Amino acid sequence: YKSIIKTIKDTPLEEFYTSGHRTCQGCESALVMRFLAKAAGQRTIVIGATGCMYVANTTYYSTSWIVPWVHTQLGGSGAAALGTAAALRALMRKGKIKQEPINVIAFCGDLGCADMGLSGVSNAMTYDYNLLIVLYDNESSANTDIQETSMTPYGAQTSFSRPGKQRRIMKKRWKKSVVPMIIAGHRNIRYAATMTPAYPLDSINKIKKALAIGGPTFIHSLDPCPKGWDYDPRFSHELGVLAAETGLWPLYEYTDGEIAYNEPTKSIVEGRMKRKPVKEYLEKQGRFSHFTEEDIEHIQRMVDEMYEEWEIPGVMPIKSL
Ligand code: SF4
Ligand code: MG
Repeated sequence: YKSIIKTIKDTPLEEFYTSGHRTCQGCESALVMRFLAKAAGQRTIVIGATGCMYVANTTYYSTSWIVPWVHTQLGGSGAAALGTAAALRALMRKGKIKQEPINVIAFCGDLGCADMGLSGVSNAMTYDYNLLIVLYDNESSANTDIQETSMTPYGAQTSFSRPGKQRRIMKKRWKKSVVPMIIAGHRNIRYAATMTPAYPLDSINKIKKALAIGGPTFIHSLDPCPKGWDYDPRFSHELGVLAAETGLWPLYEYTDGEIAYNEPTKSIVEGRMKRKPVKEYLEKQGRFSHFTEEDIEHIQRMVDEMYEEWEIPGVMPIKSL
């Protein structure tokens, strides 16, 4: 794909998501917004479901978006993306607007995308319209004060899962695997990927690739969030890198039926790099400060299984026969 950028120096200088937003210091989701606007360029419509990236970026009478931006309801990103893409096609067909490629990107947080909006996202993935849905996952409903979602990791403290004296681990469910669900269930999808903004080039290229390949495409980004994860904002980048290096957050892309790993996951899966212990990632975050060795071991075992026993390591939770 021609649009692939080789070094960070080749990234466009122009910004379509600028300063003036009100996200927290060290907010990695704001970086996702910046990267997607940079990668997509001017001829783009961005649709944002309710969440931090709606509330903090469009405070009354102000916005940091340079491109047209539409708000949609918490669970509405799939329907809004589909409606926008269909409207553009109809307007072009009727000659009401000029025929040209216009990117349609809808973003939604973990509650908006992986929980409430999942059916709408799935529906959008079954049509042949050009649209990209980006799940920016900070593993909680952070905008409304850190409530647990299905994407909150095992055992993490949120305002819905406070550890107590009787019960230390309040969130016992394992995080959902959204990209595998999207690719397994929607055969017409040609591109889906995981990313984290700690790897900017990888992230920008994935957004570019998704838009270049076209049809409905999907990206899931893991975004360290200083407020929800409870750490000093200067560690945002480091935590994104650690999520990948411990194997907790595998980086890969699915293109036309094939999985390709991206670094550092590629080196891990191919045996050139050892996964770092998950403890290094967990101990840096206040949301896991109640963890005992036993809890850390449990998470380590779950991650080991992902790489040692799964048919497609880190991706498909199916074991080989
Ligand atoms: Fe970003 Fe988290 Fe703050 Fe929301 S709560 S603006 S995701 S750092
Ligand atoms: Mg969230």
